[in-house]
Parts: sequence; C-alpha cells; structure tokens
Amino acid sequence: MARIPINIKEGKVAKEDDLIVGIDLGTTNSLVAYIKDGKAIAVRDQEGKSSLVPSIVYFSAIGRIVVGDSAKDKLITHPENTIYSVKRLMGKSYKDVAGLENYFGYKVIDDDTESLVKIRVEDRFYTPIELSAEILKALKVRVETELGRPVHRAVITVPAYFNDAQRQATRDAGKLAGLDVLRIVNEPTAASLAYGLDKDNQHDQTIAVYDLGGGTFDISILHLHDGIFEVLSTNGDTFLGGDDFDRAIMDYWIEHHQLDAEELARNKELSQALRLKAEEAKKTLSKEARFQSSLNGYAVSIDRDTFNGLIRKYVDKTLDCCRNALRDAQLDKKQIDRVVMVGGTTRVPLVKTSVSEFFGKPVYDQLDPDEVVALGAAIQADVLAGNQKEVLLLDVTPLSLGIETVGGLMDTIIPRNTKIPTRAGRQYTTSVDGQRNLKIAVYQGERDLVENNRKLGEFILKGIPPMPAGLPKIEIHFILNADGILKVKAKELRSNVEQEIEIRSSYGLSEEEMAKMLLESIQHAEEDMAVRGLLEARNEARNILLSADKFLQQNRAILSDEEISGIREYREQLRLATEGEDKDLINRVMEEINEFTRPLAQRAMDAVIADSLRGKKIS
Ligand code: AMP
Repeated sequence: MARIPINIKEGKVAKEDDLIVGIDLGTTNSLVAYIKDGKAIAVRDQEGKSSLVPSIVYFSAIGRIVVGDSAKDKLITHPENTIYSVKRLMGKSYKDVAGLENYFGYKVIDDDTESLVKIRVEDRFYTPIELSAEILKALKVRVETELGRPVHRAVITVPAYFNDAQRQATRDAGKLAGLDVLRIVNEPTAASLAYGLDKDNQHDQTIAVYDLGGGTFDISILHLHDGIFEVLSTNGDTFLGGDDFDRAIMDYWIEHHQLDAEELARNKELSQALRLKAEEAKKTLSKEARFQSSLNGYAVSIDRDTFNGLIRKYVDKTLDCCRNALRDAQLDKKQIDRVVMVGGTTRVPLVKTSVSEFFGKPVYDQLDPDEVVALGAAIQADVLAGNQKEVLLLDVTPLSLGIETVGGLMDTIIPRNTKIPTRAGRQYTTSVDGQRNLKIAVYQGERDLVENNRKLGEFILKGIPPMPAGLPKIEIHFILNADGILKVKAKELRSNVEQEIEIRSSYGLSEEEMAKMLLESIQHAEEDMAVRGLLEARNEARNILLSADKFLQQNRAILSDEEISGIREYREQLRLATEGEDKDLINRVMEEINEFTRPLAQRAMDAVIADSLRGKKIS
C-alpha cells in the first residue's frame, strides 16, 4: 500500500521521497545517517551523546522487545533472552555455524542442518532476519524521531565478503522493518565515499580499507576508476578485534595483580566489571601513556608499552590478512594509494602506526571510525535520491560458484573474486544412455568435493530428448547481478529445452514466505503453549489424585459416608479428565475438588491439632 504524506501546515501533499537514509548494520553496533545541509551526519540518541545503537535485542518476560543500550544491560542478567552478534548468523545454515555454539549465550536451533538457523527465545523461534529487522526498526524510529517525519527508504551496508544469501537476508530484514532497501553497499566502499575519495576523477586509485571493530577484522582492496569502485579482493578474520585487546588486558591483570581467576570464573558480574575496566583502560591508552584505577579494592594499572606488547600478535595477524588480500589482488603494497581506517579499534595508536608503516603512507583517520561507514551509506543514499551524481559500484564475488558433477565433484563456473555483475557458462553432457532429466545442483565454496561446500539450490532440467550418453549438449549459464543474486540457466542445445532458477531458494525469502514464516512462528508458539498448559494441568491433577487417596486413607474416621463418596466421585471425574485433552476441564474439576475438600481438610487439621494437644503423637 502506498502512503501519501500530507503536510498539514501547507495543506499539500508533502514531497518526502527525496530522503533516503544510510544504515550501517554492524555486528556490535549499528548506526543510521543522513544528509543534512549537504553534509552526512550520524543520528545521535536523545541526549545527543552517542550515534551507536548496540546491535542487541532483548525479549522481556512480557514479550516486549528492547534494542540497543537498554538491551546491552541485559546481557549479564538475562543472557538467554538477549541476542547479540546476529549479523554473524545472517543467511547461514546451522551447518555453517556448527562449532560456534559456545560463542553465543543464547540458543541456536539445529533441527535441520541444511536450513537457515533460528534462535530460540523462550517458546518462540526467531530468524536472524527478524532479529536484524528489530535493530533496523530501532534505527528507523531514531531517525524518524529526529526528523519528525516517516522514513521508508534506505541504503544498508554489508561486508564486502557477504555472499548473495547474506545480502538477500539483509534486504529481507530491511523489508520486514518497513524499509525499501534501494541498495546494498559494501562497507569499505561506503567508507571510501565518506572520505570523498570518489571525487578525484583525474587518477585511478587503489584503496585499502582496514576495518578493525570489536569482534571482526576485514581488509578490502578497492580500485577506483572514473568514480567507479571495484572490489579487487577481501580478507580478514571473523573472530579478531578490540574484544581480544580487552581480554589481553584482563589476563595481564589476573596474572600481575594476583586477581582470583577462579572467583572471576564463578562471579559473572565481577568478570564483566573487569572486562569493562579493561576496555576503559584500552580506550584511555589511546590518548594517554598510562592507565591507573581500582576494582573491588584491587589496584589495577597498565602502561601503553605493556599494552602494545600484549596486542602486537593480534596486530601482526591483521597485517598477515593484508598481505593475503594484496596477493589475491595481485598487487604490491607500494601500489596502494590510500589507506582508510574503519572501526573503533583503529583508534589504538599501535594499530594506526603499524598499518601506516606497513603501507608506507599516512592513513585516513580524520572521521570518526565508528561512523564512517554509515556516513558513506548516507552519501550513497543521497546519490540514489538524485541529489548527487550517480556513483556506480562494482563488487566481487567472495566465493567460487559452481555445480556438482559426476562423483560429487565441484565444477567452478564463476571463480572467487570475479568482478560482478558477471556471467559465465560451460557445456555439459549426460552420462547415461537415454537420460531425460539432469539434476543441476549449485554450490558455493572452494573445496573440491561439493559435500564440503555450501549448497545454494538445485533444479532439474526435464525433457531432454533420449539420446546416447555424451551426445546432448547442455549449456549451463551463471548470471550474477550487481546485488550478488545468482541466476542459473540450463539449456539443451539440440532441442532447446530450457530451465532457469534464481538462487534465493532456501536462503533469501520472498515477502510471502516471510509473512508465512512469521505467522508460523506465532502459530507454533501458541501450539507449544497449549501443549505445555495441558501437560502442566495433567501433572497437577495427578498430584491431587494421589493426595485425595492419601486423605481418604488417613481421615476415614472423621468423614461421613456422603463425604467419602463425594470425594470418590470427584476423584473419578478428575481421573477421566486427565485422560482427555481438555486442560480447561482438568482445571475446572481440580477447582471443584479443592472446593469440596477444603472444609474437610480443615476438619482433619483441627482433629490433628486436638490430638496433639491431648499429648498424642502426630504420625
Ligand atoms: P565497532 O565494532 O567498530 O563499533 O568497534 C568497537 C570497538 O572499538 C570496541 O572493541 C571498542 O572497545 C573499541 N574502541 C572504541 N573506542 C576506542 C578507543 N578510544 N580506543 C581503543 N578502542 C576503542
């Protein structure tokens, strides 16, 4: 349904479509930015303090969803209901994340290893897409509150190595949040745009974007020509970042200040406080030579040289990734013209100097490294809104794409790091006489056997005219568009039988599928609750049946015949009810039996008390 905004003051239909916001949907933090008076700005919180929205979603006991700083506070108190780092799960099947279970404090469901992961919170199941949508909704509200008007369109950034499933998942999250995602932009490209590197039209440039965040490291090598960005290669480490620096400081303190490691392992709050203190130390050391403080009566301190010694191995690891990226791009580090710094951890002086020394030139670090991607996304959004000249973006495919051939082998059709959009094809034939159908299974990955790669989808080319094996000529074409969505076409050239699929099958979701998925999760939640209600009622009823028997046995002497038969009758009714499926009936009969026996129980109690007052033993 189209929305028509009306400007009440002027009594006119408001023109609002010129606004498209830029969103950096990050692993740790997310931000939203837009162009104000020709300049990109990131939207801050109501107090004007921070533009970062922690990418954390908390589900309260009464079903309220909280995103951001308030959700972050729940990480310690309600880890099961607090979801973080959901970006790591985007577009992934359980098989992809197997082995990482311990990294997540919440439950990742593994009922079907091939299907997309889901996250369980209490009785409900959420997809990473739905959870990301909650973060996007919070960002939407933030920018709408600042602007005082609705926002419907956005550009969202993703890491350059995101595959088509992950890009599609990001788009779907936008849709679920009520945002029309006009483009998915690579984070390094956005960072380069924020520095206006595209404005130099005279020279070709090669740019290295070094992005060290809280938990991840990415290096991307871009080529810029005539305002066109091309990703030449990407590399990185999905578990390397500022968090490792914090942990290094913690370990150092535990060792040098004799902190009790066992108590820390036991006391979650204390270890969290220590982690925060370590982060504070790290941040202080970005400006000062020494950090000194205390925690729980312990004095803790560290100087910059010691800190540098602790983190050097991590920094060296990032430089190894840079070497690999240069190798993939077939470049020497001297050929890099500009180096752009992204991510909060690039504020660490050792990181800056090491990267600068490695590439042999000063780095771009004037903009806030936490905001730079969102600012670039806002600039790209402005370009799309027609407010700036069009900037074309090109990407590369991060993993090879191919099909399964005889013996379960992977036959690569589009090799990794190929510039997109692209298309490639190859001819195949049948292996059996008279074969009429050919299954085409599409995989992504670098391994020789398809079972070690990731299946993206499959289809069957039907109706091949019967011919001896080896005679049919089947051409398979891969077409990868600028958004990284893959189309696969198969055609038998002798008969012109043709078939094609778009690979979004089990990974990307259509709007209908998404609606269905949401509905199902709600329906299942209700079903689960109903089943649980019945089981609980039955259990309680069983206890009551046992108590009733015991009560009859022990108190026969003080009960009339009518009372005894009354209890027996209710008892039978309750027994019958527990055999049925109607939990309301069970509850009702339990109520009745309670009502009926309350005065009798009171009488039994009085009798016991009277007996005990007479000095008899209470058995
Ligand atoms: P990001 O994932 O890009 O938001 O990066 C967040 C990381 O940057 C966290 O590990 C922060 O501790 C770190 N960080 C933020 N400010 C500083 C600072 N001044 N010095 C060192 N690290 C910082």
